[in-house]
Amino acid sequence: HAKGSGRGTYSYFAPSMTADARAQLQLIHELGQALGRREFVLHYQPKFEAGSGVLAGAEALLRWNHPERGLLAPADFIDLAERTGLILQIGEWVLDEACRQLRAWREQGRPPLAVAVNLSALQFSHPELVATVGRALRAHDVPPEQLILEITESTAMQDVEASHAVLEALSALGVRLSIDDFGTGYSSLLYLKRLPANELKIDRGFVSELARGSEDAAIVSAIVALGDALELTVVGEGVETRAQLEVLSELGCDALQGYLLGRPVPVEEFRFDGSAECRPQHGAAAAGAPRA
Ligand code: C2E
Ligand code: MG
Ligand code: MG
Ligand code: MG
Repeated sequence: HAKGSGRGTYSYFAPSMTADARAQLQLIHELGQALGRREFVLHYQPKFEAGSGVLAGAEALLRWNHPERGLLAPADFIDLAERTGLILQIGEWVLDEACRQLRAWREQGRPPLAVAVNLSALQFSHPELVATVGRALRAHDVPPEQLILEITESTAMQDVEASHAVLEALSALGVRLSIDDFGTGYSSLLYLKRLPANELKIDRGFVSELARGSEDAAIVSAIVALGDALELTVVGEGVETRAQLEVLSELGCDALQGYLLGRPVPVEEFRFDGSAECRPQHGAAAAGAPRA
């Protein structure tokens, strides 16, 4: 224990702090510097049309290139960023960077692709969000329909009336809206019906053990039916196996995303020609690898 070890010496941390608390403070300090040091980077994960396997978009996923600890995933720092409020600046960077990339792709002659950006709860409830999104689009001259904003179902349901107003305002900008991790929150169907959303992403929890005839399969069909009724694109995420892909396609998912089809990769490795084998191949157990 640190008790007594700091006596008579100056220390940035109070000696009575636990090692965990020190590590936490250190991380907050580093997180605060990360933007200025350009340590954040976006990786892109492809999304494919179920059936045709045509590339349908990409999701931008944040990574922190930490000077000592290497590449960190959101699980290592997003909560902290949210609790300290740093997520607001980081999120603004993510929006700007995704729009900058969309413009770069266009200038390279790439076919227009929709890019999805995840919004945190704090960002979503921030009064400047709509202005920030509009600014990012204008700064890089990006057609709004090429930007998809993902908010989790639980974030959207936190304050139903406020969310509705924000989503309406975002929708008026022309961006598309996606409800992420769907099925884990508690959506009122009446409310969902009024939301100007374009897409539902089925939570990975229903996909990981998905099998024909299972409870998860019944839930996926219910979400697909809901998506059809409300005219929302339904995306299955976290597709890791051929078997999951087949069940999701059979149940009527419109689009698929997951390690089987393409992992999140640095932009230099993102493949525009990477169509994936999404057609169900009954009995073809060995066809595990994507063609990309
Ligand atoms: P999410 O938006 O639901 O993103 C999907 C997560 O699942 C990503 O994790 C992705 O890498 C991972 N994934 C994709 N396919 C598979 C698969 O087949 N199997 C498994 N096991 N995982 C798969 P990642 O990149 O670690 O991000 C985790 C979460 O962090 C995201 O969940 C999102 O909620 C949040 N996040 C990511 N980037 C940002 C960001 O820029 N801003 C904010 N506020 N949150 C972000
Ligand atoms: Mg997402
Ligand atoms: Mg998700
Ligand atoms: Mg449908």
